[in-house]
Amino acid sequence: MSPRRTVYLDHSASTPCDPRVVEAMMPYFSEVYGNSSSSHSFGRKAEIAIDNARETLARVLNCKPNEVIFTSGGSESDNLAVRGAGWMGRAQGRGAHLITTPVEHSAVSAPIKQMTGLQGFKSTFLPVSSEAWVDPEDLAAALRDDSTLVSVIYANNEVGTIAPIPQLAEQAHARGALFHTDAVQAAGQLTLDVQALGVDMLSLSAHKFYGPKGVGALYVREGIDLVSAQAGGSHERGRRAGTHNTTFIVGMAKALEITHAERESRIAHYRAMRDQLIDGVLSRVPDAILTGHREHRLPSHASFIIPGVDSSKLMMHLDMRGVAASGGSACKTGNPEPSGVLLAMGYSPEDATGSLRLTVGLHTTEEDIDYAVSAVQESVEKLRALAKMFTV
Ligand SMILES: *Cc1c(COP(=O)(O)O)cnc(C)c1O
Repeated sequence: MSPRRTVYLDHSASTPCDPRVVEAMMPYFSEVYGNSSSSHSFGRKAEIAIDNARETLARVLNCKPNEVIFTSGGSESDNLAVRGAGWMGRAQGRGAHLITTPVEHSAVSAPIKQMTGLQGFKSTFLPVSSEAWVDPEDLAAALRDDSTLVSVIYANNEVGTIAPIPQLAEQAHARGALFHTDAVQAAGQLTLDVQALGVDMLSLSAHKFYGPKGVGALYVREGIDLVSAQAGGSHERGRRAGTHNTTFIVGMAKALEITHAERESRIAHYRAMRDQLIDGVLSRVPDAILTGHREHRLPSHASFIIPGVDSSKLMMHLDMRGVAASGGSACKTGNPEPSGVLLAMGYSPEDATGSLRLTVGLHTTEEDIDYAVSAVQESVEKLRALAKMFTV
């Protein structure tokens, strides 16, 4: 084995903060510290910084600044969209039927299950193909007169599949339902033009595109009323109470601006690294299966099932070799249940136990990939040999 190195291949879980982002944030810790809601000069300075950040996001999203709500991250944005639109739809008498998929991030599926279990909402989970593809025809068939909200993930965090968002949004609108998408994984790699996508709401999280953790945004099309999921002060036009985190909002805007400007060269790099990774694992690990869609997948994303191997043990073996990987989604750590996403795609519980996700980033090199592929191969050989010893 080549000399040990440290290789981070878990960029779908989080990315390092870009040094230019850190630099942009610095003045907002101790120099510009006013509360953006205060009317004096200290407050106004913070307010200006937030207004500028809002304009930056609006440029990238191709929307109006007042259509951007700042939140504490992707989870909060998803919760605000699903609850806010669901509660409002019912209050306004449009119905209480929610439609989603079995391959959503838990920040979308958990609130929907809560609303269904505790608050009398109805929900439909659309079928997905073995590649986690959501068919607009299936959505058309599931829509009813009382459907108020459809939520479909843009790019899947576990298997990287990209959904046909414009076509799905069109179906929802044809029946008068709102359409939300979780674009947390898509940001930095796919278009975020909300006009081209045709969505009514879209969630973002800064730490997935080289910004700080704990800050995100929700785009909400003008004219759509949401019940605030967090009530209190009148921040964000009454839809999200809480003093603005000026520093992190500035950081998120800077990160999005950079990521947008450098998108083409970044995704070319991601693609090259990802393809080397996929080819390496498929050719050197016997029986390894690529999960998710071959073409319609995130440029940075490789995911596999390694039959006969327990994902959590594989993570440990890779970690000992310095390779940071994931068994699917970081949010599942410590949860031995097989992934619901893989089960919905039709994999057996045994196969789903062997999931492996490797996601490349800006700083990933060919040498990193070579090393990681060898580490996967060695770890799998070791684990399979051990399993064999105990079954004879
Ligand atoms: C990471 C992630 C989230 C959660 O975002 P946080 O900012 O970490 O709360 C939501 N959805 C998807 C698809 C994600 O990958």
